[in-house]
Amino acid sequence: MQGLVTKSTGSWYQVKSGDQTIDCRIKGKFRTKGITTTNPLAVGDIVDFEMEPEQESGVITNLTQRKNYIIRKSINLSKQAQIIAANLDLALLVVTLASPRTSLGFIDRFLVTAEAYGIRACLIFNKLDLFSDEGLEILADYQAIYENIGYPCYSVSAKDGTNIDVVQNLLKDKVTLFSGHSGVGKSSLINALLPDLDLRTHMVSDWSDKGMHTTTFAEMFDLPQGGYIIDTPGIRELGVIDIEKQELGHFFPEMRELMNQCRFNNCRHINEPGCAVLAAIEAGDIALSRYDSYLSIYNGNDTRA
Ligand code: GDP
Ligand code: ZN
Repeated sequence: MQGLVTKSTGSWYQVKSGDQTIDCRIKGKFRTKGITTTNPLAVGDIVDFEMEPEQESGVITNLTQRKNYIIRKSINLSKQAQIIAANLDLALLVVTLASPRTSLGFIDRFLVTAEAYGIRACLIFNKLDLFSDEGLEILADYQAIYENIGYPCYSVSAKDGTNIDVVQNLLKDKVTLFSGHSGVGKSSLINALLPDLDLRTHMVSDWSDKGMHTTTFAEMFDLPQGGYIIDTPGIRELGVIDIEKQELGHFFPEMRELMNQCRFNNCRHINEPGCAVLAAIEAGDIALSRYDSYLSIYNGNDTRA
């Protein structure tokens, strides 16, 4: 039988198959090419499993190839990584321009990481109810920066429900990762999308009752209209990926499309003559804030704040 891993503790996996949800263990080794991982499977993995004879639990026997996955580097064991989630259709970042304000550096870093993972990304600007007319104009300017590059932007209010239906449509039949700085309203938004579930109580795992050791990195929730939300409690950032400086421009779509017009094919887009990226900045076709983020990441500055 084939199923979807909807919860993982590292030793037990909750697998959804049709209408059934089965607790499974794994048999054999599951390796991820190219990295050493501390956990073999993660939420979003598609697996084959068999029921154990005379039991209600199952055994996972095979992992279907992932279309993508996100990791978190282990802090003590730098060569090891945790797989957080797999097979994502969309990475959604919840941001606010009001209390607390999300910095553009943080947004850009998130988008670069999503590009590097090969996952489509979009931005949800929450707390729309707090905006004055003037604030709305600033919001529209910010959204235009990202819309022009190809990242869809949505304005919502988790508080009064404005445009929650638009987000529901967006998420339909997709596996969507939710990220966001604490305080932006990510939990409120998830609660608005999952009216039947109180997230805070749901987080208290029923597995601990069964004596199953729980170290949950990510949780997956069923959307009523079809699709899944993956929340990563306690993880502020989409896992950090090592990007070669020389590669960085590839993860800025507006730079990527111009780079082959630079005079030098090893152009860093910093001060080289005949640089098409610098010309586009001069012409106002590339947002300065985006280029600032490029330089910050290039120079290894922390833009996480
Ligand atoms: P999280 O840390 O991102 O999960 O944020 P929470 O969902 O816990 O929300 C943080 C704070 O922002 C709480 O006080 C919420 O009531 C508030 N909040 C969340 N969404 C909205 C919104 O759309 N409008 C307003 N005005 N406040 C909101
Ligand atoms: Zn260049």
